[in-house]
Amino acid sequence: MTDRDCIFCKIAAGEIPSATVYEDADFRVILDLGPASRGHALILPKNHYKDLCELDESVAARVLPLAGKLGAAMKRALGCAGFNVVQNNGTAAGQTVFHFHVHVIPRYEGGPEMVAWKPGKADPEELAAVSSSIQKELEL
Ligand code: 5GP
Ligand code: ZN
Repeated sequence: MTDRDCIFCKIAAGEIPSATVYEDADFRVILDLGPASRGHALILPKNHYKDLCELDESVAARVLPLAGKLGAAMKRALGCAGFNVVQNNGTAAGQTVFHFHVHVIPRYEGGPEMVAWKPGKADPEELAAVSSSIQKELEL
């Protein structure tokens, strides 16, 4: 289940070299070529899924534990004070490579602000309406 035109399929398969932090049968973890901070890593499944909506559930179940272990290793190895776990779906959300991946981004004391948004103001009626419309479409 790979896509011949997908760069992350090729990296995950080892056909294109990468700074690999971890590899097993299902995943390769690499360092990002355009890092947001020192140690910025990407978790790539070896199979091709366009985004989170396509991701196999057994693969999905391994992603967060892997991200947590990576973040803990980054704190010990790099001295970062924390880390962000970021996952973009769709162009509007900033996805540029359409092979599911998770960013694990070390955050250093005094480092630049990132992964932030300006909080809006919630109207209780609007919250109830939005909550209900999403709930109707939720397929679990
Ligand atoms: P997205 O914007 O899709 O969530 O993230 C794509 C990420 O992949 C970006 O942070 C970008 O720097 C990184 N990237 C794109 N092409 C390559 C590549 O060939 N090798 C590596 N290591 N990272 C890449
Ligand atoms: Zn792919």
